Amino acid sequence: MKKLTELFGELVFDERVMKARLSEQVYKSLKKTIDEGEQLDITVAGAVADAMKEWAVEKGATHYTHWFQPLTGITAEKHDSFISPCKEGGVIMEFSGKELIKGEPDASSFPSGGLRATFEARGYTAWDPTSYAFIKDKTLCIPTAFCSYGGEALDKKTPLLRSMDALNRQALRILRLFGKDDVRYVKACVGPEQEYFLISKEVYEKRKDLVCTGRTLFGARPPKGQEMSDHYFGMIKPKVAEFMEDLNVELWRLGIFAKTEHNEVAPSQHELAPIYTTANIATDHNQLTMEIMQKVAARHGLVCILHEKPFAGVNGSGKHNNWSMSTNTGVNLLDPGKTPAENVQFLLFLTAVIKAVDEYADMMRLSVASAGNDHRLGANEAPPAIISIFLGDELKAIVDSIIKDKFFKKTGKVVMETGAAVIPHFTRDTTDRNRTSPFAFTGNKFEFRSLGSSASVATPNIVLNTAVADALSQFYEKLKNVSKKNFESAVHDLLKETLKKHERVLFNGNGYTDEWVAEAKKRGLYNLKSTPEVLPTLLDKKNIELFTKHGIYTETEIRSRYEILLENYTKTLHIEACTLKEMLYQDFLPAAVTYMKSLTDEILGKKAVSKSISTKAEEKVLAHLSAQYEALVAKAEQLTKDIEKAEGLTDELKKAEFYHDPVFTDMQVIREIADDMETYIPASVLPYPTYSRMLFYV
Ligand code: ADP
Ligand code: MG
Repeated sequence: MKKLTELFGELVFDERVMKARLSEQVYKSLKKTIDEGEQLDITVAGAVADAMKEWAVEKGATHYTHWFQPLTGITAEKHDSFISPCKEGGVIMEFSGKELIKGEPDASSFPSGGLRATFEARGYTAWDPTSYAFIKDKTLCIPTAFCSYGGEALDKKTPLLRSMDALNRQALRILRLFGKDDVRYVKACVGPEQEYFLISKEVYEKRKDLVCTGRTLFGARPPKGQEMSDHYFGMIKPKVAEFMEDLNVELWRLGIFAKTEHNEVAPSQHELAPIYTTANIATDHNQLTMEIMQKVAARHGLVCILHEKPFAGVNGSGKHNNWSMSTNTGVNLLDPGKTPAENVQFLLFLTAVIKAVDEYADMMRLSVASAGNDHRLGANEAPPAIISIFLGDELKAIVDSIIKDKFFKKTGKVVMETGAAVIPHFTRDTTDRNRTSPFAFTGNKFEFRSLGSSASVATPNIVLNTAVADALSQFYEKLKNVSKKNFESAVHDLLKETLKKHERVLFNGNGYTDEWVAEAKKRGLYNLKSTPEVLPTLLDKKNIELFTKHGIYTETEIRSRYEILLENYTKTLHIEACTLKEMLYQDFLPAAVTYMKSLTDEILGKKAVSKSISTKAEEKVLAHLSAQYEALVAKAEQLTKDIEKAEGLTDELKKAEFYHDPVFTDMQVIREIADDMETYIPASVLPYPTYSRMLFYV
């Protein structure tokens, strides 16, 4: 095998390749576009396309594709071959600057939420030069944005790039106030930690629910779950280790910095974390990672499950979105720094994040809302649905001291200065850990932990970037005319005022308790538990204003996303309910009958031999199963009626709400009864592999 250093990024048209294969002038021009978002010249695009094609063909590629991220949340690609016919016969390999920059996939089947009338079904894709092109399956993949002909964004990349731009603009203005004239740009950085399950392919294929919905709709809890915590960071099984090794190589070749991997809390659950990078590349890489995980798993006779809650009773899977802002001069704006001046700047950015998260907690919650993630949030395993911020004791003490103008000395760590309008100086923050907080400061970054495992990380970062950009723009307005002499004092007053107002979102305690739910309510924080409850907040005036003001989404784009999210939720629930019904009638109920029949035969057989042989035990089980059978059928009939009712509703929000309750509630009741029956029915009769088979036999 090749050495890792040779292997890493060998399928990526990265800076090393660009430098080697482009003329100096073309490289410089492209680099300016990549770093500073300058418009790209078409002649430059032509030269880049040519070099890209040469490179890709040398690596065995025959096709190219504009790789994009439609609103389905997964990636899409339509392959075109490089070949172009020659007049004299035969073919040449061609790829023009125009083809690199713009594509026109017929993409009428992607959800557009009414943005694209069917008569103008074609959208277009536009190259995102800030994310490197790469080769996958003999195809040169060009990361692109996807828009309608009217220019509306039909994807997740476009608004993400817009939000990074907004954050850059606003952060730069603040940095200028601090005299940082050397900084040319600020980028949002993201490191997403990805959780997933691995189960055997053979077992997976026997479960209709896993195949059709990504999660189990039935299944009694195994006798052993995760209660021993023996899987977390435990030894990795050989089969899984082989998978991880193979996966790492694939990811490294694609230039993805896969770094840590370990077992997670639930049996058969694992995690992969890459080294962080700029937000849009991290998003592209995470999409690729999820795709490659599934491909590599298949090669190993395994299935990688990315659903947020594939198995009831054990932990679900999430994604931790580590987020920070970094300058081209290598300064992390969320690093507390060492000097008092650095502290002041840090506190300003920190306070902007606090204000942003408090004001747009509903959008943060919305950015992670999905039918799958509803199973986790608030279920005592993922962070609660209430969005709050964990700062750690030391930083919280500093915030308190600013609010109360009381600069107390704390164990020699916090170095105080006197005077009211002065900001306390502190050395590097030693943040302690809190696993229950949805949004935790972890030393020099924030970790947003509410994301679902299967979703794109684009939306949460769009919200974060935009909300923070907005807070920074308000700060700038307040500080722009302040003299140098009064600057620190003015910053202090601004921090004090802002922190006082948004202190309510800070919470260092245990987010899993009922006390916190009550306390959060008192503080006026949102507690939006289910997707249908969250979605309407997207149309609130303040939220439309936020996104339109910063040019992230037009109002039309927001409304289209609202519709798509509602539709996604409804469709997911509809598929789940129908799958459950089918499994029930086709497989589970017949299996129950088979066993009840054998019990009846047994009872009759014994009685035929002698009246004195007891059949009490069999009768007891039979009676219990018969009663449950009846209850199950009655509930299934109810479910059928409720699905019909739901489908009859024309108001999309009402429909989603109806799917949440009663349809989803029906499904849960059905599951409870079926799971109880399962514990009485012999494995040889059960139609599906049990939880034990699925979770403990990789
Ligand atoms: P944890 O204790 O949460 O596992 P790690 O140090 O392992 O913390 O980091 C988790 C993720 O956070 C990794 O993907 C890492 O690259 C990323 N990360 C580290 N520093 C930053 C930062 N400044 N900005 C964004 N992500 C970061
Ligand atoms: Mg983490």
